Amino acid sequence: MGLAHGSTRSPGTARVIDADHKKPFRIFTHPIHIHMELLINGLSKTYGNGVKALDNVSLTIPTGMFGLLGPNGAGKSTLMRILATLQEADSGTAMLGDPGSEAGMTIDVLKDKEAVRKVLGYLPQEFGVYPRVSAYQMLDHIAMLKGVTNGGERKSLVEALLQKVNLWEYRKRRIAGFSGGMKQRFGIAQSLIGDPKLIIVDEPTAGLDPGERNRFYNLLTEIGENVVVILSTHIVQDVQELCSNMAIIDKGKLLYAGSPNDALAGIKGHVWEKTIAKAELENYATSHQLISNKLVAGRPVIHVLSAQRPDEGFTPTDPTLEDVFFSSIASEVNATPAHA
Ligand code: ADP
Repeated sequence: MGLAHGSTRSPGTARVIDADHKKPFRIFTHPIHIHMELLINGLSKTYGNGVKALDNVSLTIPTGMFGLLGPNGAGKSTLMRILATLQEADSGTAMLGDPGSEAGMTIDVLKDKEAVRKVLGYLPQEFGVYPRVSAYQMLDHIAMLKGVTNGGERKSLVEALLQKVNLWEYRKRRIAGFSGGMKQRFGIAQSLIGDPKLIIVDEPTAGLDPGERNRFYNLLTEIGENVVVILSTHIVQDVQELCSNMAIIDKGKLLYAGSPNDALAGIKGHVWEKTIAKAELENYATSHQLISNKLVAGRPVIHVLSAQRPDEGFTPTDPTLEDVFFSSIASEVNATPAHA
């Protein structure tokens, strides 16, 4: 299947069972197996105010769910917006394609914006203004804009999407009145129009309550296998629940790239836990490499990164992805070597 401009392939359809509605509906599928990959090389971006938002970032993002983890201000949105063709990079390249196919199948993401937009599904952090039209009307409108001009085809696509994201019963309601979780699910529905090969989801779970977050996770895991999905987030749980590969960035720099399991293995045996008194916290913070500090029943429980047991009071603990995240950021060097 070609990713090149103006592909005339019509997607196949399949009948599947919607877990929530227990009735079959039609969705588009990819009849031919492809293996997409996004290759980012040496990407840099400095804003006019001198902030270096991306500093020579190189990453290989394979098919499947990829977590881009970083604290606020790390450069995640800058990277997402550049990949979504909404912003220019200063230097570097990003190529999307099937590495097994001939060169013509590859899209130069930074140069061939039209081609990217044809295969892109983008869910921004905020839509800004929520339209006062119904979910059905809005999806129908976006599908029209994305080139689904056949009325019958558009109707079945919009209906299938509304069911998929569990908004069928709210299809006639205005999006402006939706809850945060419903807006995010609507966002996924619109991003799936046009059979995307690259889906970019920017900080999707910020502001969702736990129930909404779970529904959103379930929905994301249903996205096709042959799609590159980049999920940018500062919430470790998002990556833990969803992503088979991840990167950690901070201050525009790549600190880790690889699987969450490899990241955990990289600090195994080096994370130590101790319950301390509140007054001791500052001391520990200066004398040890403190990676986290949580209150349990009102007392701080600290995690420290150290090759040896720091003192008698510490017990070894299995590292969590949070430990990986905070230790990468605390040391600004890799817990394990970053690799592309
Ligand atoms: P994140 O999405 O990880 O929170 P951003 O990409 O939004 O990070 O921001 C990275 C850095 O670039 C931050 O220091 C932010 O203040 C700065 N920044 C973002 N957008 C702009 C802009 N339009 N002009 C100047 N600085 C910006």
